[in-house]
Amino acid sequence: MTKKLILVVIDGLTPDAFEATVERRSSPTLAALAEAGSYARAVSTFPSLTPVCLASLATGGGPDVHHIPHLVWYHRGEGRIVEYGSSFGAVRAAGTRRVIKDAIVEMNAEHLASDAITVYEALEDTGLVTAAVNVPCYRGRTRHVATVPGVVRPVNGPLRFFYYNLFASDVTGAPLAVRGRAVGSVDAYAAAVGRWLVTRDGFDFLFFYLPDYDFASHALGPAGAEEALARSDRAVGALVDAAGGLDTFLERYDVVLCSDHGQTHVERAVRLQDVVGEPGAIVTASNRAGMVYLDGDVRPVAERLARSEGIGVALFREDDASYALRGEELVELAPGEGGWRSRAWHALANPNAGEVIVSAAPGVEFMDLGGRHHVGGGSHGSLDDGDSLVPMLVVGDASPPPSITAVAPLVLEHFGVEAPAYARAA
Ligand SMILES: [Zn+2]
Repeated sequence: MTKKLILVVIDGLTPDAFEATVERRSSPTLAALAEAGSYARAVSTFPSLTPVCLASLATGGGPDVHHIPHLVWYHRGEGRIVEYGSSFGAVRAAGTRRVIKDAIVEMNAEHLASDAITVYEALEDTGLVTAAVNVPCYRGRTRHVATVPGVVRPVNGPLRFFYYNLFASDVTGAPLAVRGRAVGSVDAYAAAVGRWLVTRDGFDFLFFYLPDYDFASHALGPAGAEEALARSDRAVGALVDAAGGLDTFLERYDVVLCSDHGQTHVERAVRLQDVVGEPGAIVTASNRAGMVYLDGDVRPVAERLARSEGIGVALFREDDASYALRGEELVELAPGEGGWRSRAWHALANPNAGEVIVSAAPGVEFMDLGGRHHVGGGSHGSLDDGDSLVPMLVVGDASPPPSITAVAPLVLEHFGVEAPAYARAA
């Protein structure tokens, strides 16, 4: 009989931090799962930013398939900036109600490409039950009405759907204190919901998303967030305990555990708008990636940016070809060649991307709409390995997939469901 499957995503967990905590056994549940499974390092998407990565994890497609380009981007059809919540300052600058609507509702209902297929949609179409806890990319087939009236309109999610207490398909009694973010309140909520789900054996597939580690790592840097990782570990441990211990847990479930992207240390902040300095250009920047939306000649702007302080790589398209500029070096990009070039190609092929996409130089972060940054802490988003590599652990028959984009096809294959054509080709 096919086991059930749990996908655990610990936001922002680097392979270094995962390997160190397993080695030291400072995260006992992660260490026990690592002992029972097979592990490898895998690669994220570009930009290596949560909305982009989670859309890839949920659909098995790159940004060219799912169309989510960045944390903040320019919507050409609506002539406005879409901001999913780079920081409290950026949320205020973009308008709190607008951000809530974009991040919670529109990202799934409108921005996520209609021909991308989520794991929830693909599995539930075959009669399986899927569940998602706090996953920003949740599009499914079941209509859910918000628990708080008047905040957001109803959305379509998986059958069992829990989203920060705003949507709850079942009454679990799980508490949520959003004010305690720095001490792991969101993951504690996820743990309570997860415990409820496992106790009732309430799903075939569960996407269990833990965002608090990323929050801590931004503040403290990727080397300073070990305490936060111990809390993420306890949230995973709650699932194991609910099943009656590791042996019974693993008799019932296979597990894929990974992160969405890495993090690197930030030394200085750059305001990308000032670097671009192009009249009429629209610049959207946050963390370690930026988009430049331009009319007219693209290559001269990309060339100037590539030579500028704080820019690692500038990407652009010209006559259907895709290019990367690293300083003076021009590289033509193609999909499927692996490594950073392939990730760059997929980012440029997204119809919502800017004409130029920039990846920050090592140690540099771009200020967001609210002027915020994480100097002295951690960030991510660039093409660099530190931002792009993730830990990938599989407890089950499959081998660890080489990229986060290959996770959804693995999940579908586990249940004998054919992956969408775009994921088979990749
Ligand atoms: Zn982050």
